[in-house]
Amino acid sequence: MEETIFAKIIKREIPAEIIYEDAETLAFLDIAPVAEGHTLVIPKNPARNVFDIEPESFAAMAKTAKKVAIALKTALGADGVSIAMNNEPASGQVVFHAHFHIIPRFDNDKLVQWPQRPYPTGEASVVAEKIRAAF
Ligand code: AMP
Repeated sequence: MEETIFAKIIKREIPAEIIYEDAETLAFLDIAPVAEGHTLVIPKNPARNVFDIEPESFAAMAKTAKKVAIALKTALGADGVSIAMNNEPASGQVVFHAHFHIIPRFDNDKLVQWPQRPYPTGEASVVAEKIRAAF
């Protein structure tokens, strides 16, 4: 895997506002935050995204994400958090080292939500069957 900017942050070759670290993960402030305190949680073991990451590494990211969420709520008085992960360019992934975005949310902060629409009649069961068959 080609070395990313996040690998350089792990090695302290470039600066970052690191807020938490343990043996398997690192959490630091996003350089261009959606909201103040927007944090990225990354595994130290390099992985591109959800498709190639080891389940143990992904679980470690989830554990750290929970700790970060609680810290953001406590420190910044957030009313909630959004946790997101982009996987591959189609989803908006730009840095190809797996990461969760932990974004502090406030009541009526007006951040845009994903647009949703109901399935046309009968379509949900067709889609569900396709996905079930892929496991
Ligand atoms: P994604 O689009 O999910 O790949 O998100 C990559 C994120 O990394 C973006 O939100 C960027 O603002 C953030 N980012 C890029 N370079 C740095 C950096 N040097 N330090 C902190 N965050 C960064």
